Amino acid sequence: MGTVQFDFRGEVAVVTGGSRGLGLEIAEAFGRAGAAVVITARREQWLREAEQQLKDQGISVLALVCDVTNPASVEQVVQQTIVTYGKIDVLVNNAGQVWAAPAEQMPLARWQQVIDTNITGTFLVSQSVGKQMLLREKGTIVSIASIAGLRGGEVNFIGYSASKAAIINLTRALAVEWGPRHIRVNCLAPGFFRTRLTEGILAQGAEAQVANTSPLGRIGQPGEIAPAVLFLASEGASYITGQVLPIDGGGTAK
Ligand code: NDP
Repeated sequence: MGTVQFDFRGEVAVVTGGSRGLGLEIAEAFGRAGAAVVITARREQWLREAEQQLKDQGISVLALVCDVTNPASVEQVVQQTIVTYGKIDVLVNNAGQVWAAPAEQMPLARWQQVIDTNITGTFLVSQSVGKQMLLREKGTIVSIASIAGLRGGEVNFIGYSASKAAIINLTRALAVEWGPRHIRVNCLAPGFFRTRLTEGILAQGAEAQVANTSPLGRIGQPGEIAPAVLFLASEGASYITGQVLPIDGGGTAK
């Protein structure tokens, strides 16, 4: 995680899709900074491993099975978090899915799966957690969008690109609506990081393409996402809301 230091002692952070990949990295970073963390995912397989990994580091963790597309499942996570920790200070909407297909061949069921998880899931969790934050007029939300939501260059990811663009404007709309009640809402637009979600795409040449075309000449490395999430969730970002921060080695600067 480098040398960046943040202090989240006494705070509670919920990270959806915290069972692996970027979500686990983010949960671990909040935990190391002193927060109690709640991680969610649909499948026990990775969730229990992640829970153990965090516990082994002395982090207070609640690991809950949850499908972000299911309102009852989401509400259960929020209620269990309130029962266990009493409040939610930080929400990271990280759960996401991708489906690769040429636009003209994209199956409707896959389109709906991506849209439901990435847009509706982000909305449902924000709504449910947001109600708790609004009661205290305190809290901050960071959602994980993508550079695919900022431009049309990610060919064959029609549903993903549309969904990530939606997350960016959902972020702005929530920030405007809830700003007067002291809830800040921001999002990140990562470029390419090696995870289960991207391994296929990277193997098919995306890594070389990023290395050849991006200003920093490489894909993102472990530890290069979480510090930005912690910053946006911290008091250091107290005047920042409704914004999207690309973390892409400068790719979208071109
Ligand atoms: P992974 O596939 O490694 O992790 C995705 C996580 O989301 C898993 O914990 C998964 O668990 C969970 N998840 C998926 N669908 C649902 C659902 N319906 N309900 C609850 N949890 C769900 O991917 P990454 O770590 O790469 O991705 C994390 C986020 O970052 C995503 O939003 C992705 O779009 C975004 N991103 C990633 C980039 C990258 O280069 N890796 C670049 C830009 C953005 P389970 O399957 O068990 O539910």
